[in-house]
Amino acid sequence: MRYITANVRDICIGHNSRPIIVQSMCNCDTNDIDSAVAQCVKLYEAGSMMVRLTTQGLREVESLRNIKARLHSMGIRIPLVADVHFSSEVAIAAASVADKVRINPGNFAKDHEVARREFKRFLKECSKYGTAVRIGINHGSLGSRITELYGNTPKGMQEAMSEWVQMCIDEDFYNVVLSLKVSNVPVMTQAYILLQQWMEERGIIFPLHLGVTEAGNGDMGRIKSAAGLATLLSRGIGDTIRVSLTEPPVNEIVPARLIAEFFDTDQKPSDYQTGVKDGVPSFELRCASHEEFIVKASCILGPMLVNKEIDDFDIRCIYGDKQADKSEIEQFKSDIMQATRRRITQCEYIACPSCGRTLYDIESTFNEVKRRTSHLRGLTIAVMGCIVNGPGEMADADYGYIGEGRGKVSIYRGKEAVVRSVPQEKAIDVLLELIEKDGRSTDGRPLRG
Ligand code: SF4
Repeated sequence: MRYITANVRDICIGHNSRPIIVQSMCNCDTNDIDSAVAQCVKLYEAGSMMVRLTTQGLREVESLRNIKARLHSMGIRIPLVADVHFSSEVAIAAASVADKVRINPGNFAKDHEVARREFKRFLKECSKYGTAVRIGINHGSLGSRITELYGNTPKGMQEAMSEWVQMCIDEDFYNVVLSLKVSNVPVMTQAYILLQQWMEERGIIFPLHLGVTEAGNGDMGRIKSAAGLATLLSRGIGDTIRVSLTEPPVNEIVPARLIAEFFDTDQKPSDYQTGVKDGVPSFELRCASHEEFIVKASCILGPMLVNKEIDDFDIRCIYGDKQADKSEIEQFKSDIMQATRRRITQCEYIACPSCGRTLYDIESTFNEVKRRTSHLRGLTIAVMGCIVNGPGEMADADYGYIGEGRGKVSIYRGKEAVVRSVPQEKAIDVLLELIEKDGRSTDGRPLRG
């Protein structure tokens, strides 16, 4: 088996790199150099080992150059990753500045042959500058060429990825990391497992960047991420991770480090298991915080639930000399069952972590949507930061709130934009009116109050 490693400045990713590389992304405007530098410094100090920045155009490439220079002048040489969508010209320009460029080559052009040609040009430029590449394919943005053959499925994601990987091999370009991100935890794990099998069959293993995309915020965002990442890391799949949260980026680092530490130190569920009663395993953890509890417990239980090795469990957590109360344990059980899609008892949310393309306060909007819809069991509601990628990436949501920019929002039912250009102040009401009109406000409780 040939193991490929990617070099992002002085960070080597691949062949089950340990420590697992923890990374995050700025969510400010990349052209606001002061804010971007401040976020990079915060992330670096918290333990992020690389930072990604939104790079929509050539102006952002120049900003990236300035941000890099400012960080270097402060003695901070954290690798910077340019996040480029759609434009091969921007990706090519970014290759001369960033340490790594994240792209989905399928989005370079509508004509597939043009996309392939642009991807080749891009790889040549990356070779010239020693720049690493992440090929990132997200569920919901596969394109009709793939979905007509395979549907919007894990197999479709693996097939979409394998073509670009084969092109890298043909072009003799190996400085590559791969990602297949999905917000649904079992679908995400299945996609990576299929990709790993495809690589093993070919005898060549590229490094993998793991993430549960649009995981949301709070406990659920952390639990989804930990359960999904742990399911793969426990199989030896994955080299670098991001926990995506609809919260300030620095909040991603503590849960990401807890997940990385769990696997870097080779911890196992059996280290925490205290017994089995009537086929139900019981576990006990000693933790310093609620966050540590939910993340570690998800690392232990997530793989067993996703792999359907268990249907139920008992768990205790001890903080110092105090035991976690019943309601904390019950809420965790409900959340991890929902996150792993083993028992749906809550409204499901998809919310992007936001980035430099987000032009509204997504954190407070998402919390308000949650406050007013949390009783809608069985519905999936998406809150997305931008109209460019939001509609594709909200995947299989029933309804979507998508920022258009300039104080306007689009409201979606499935893939259809039902109302466009709604003033932001009215947008949550319009979303809720639509849900009520569709008869999906299941318990009759008014949503608009
Ligand atoms: S959907 Fe969200 S994270 Fe994705 S590009 Fe748009 S604003 Fe950024």
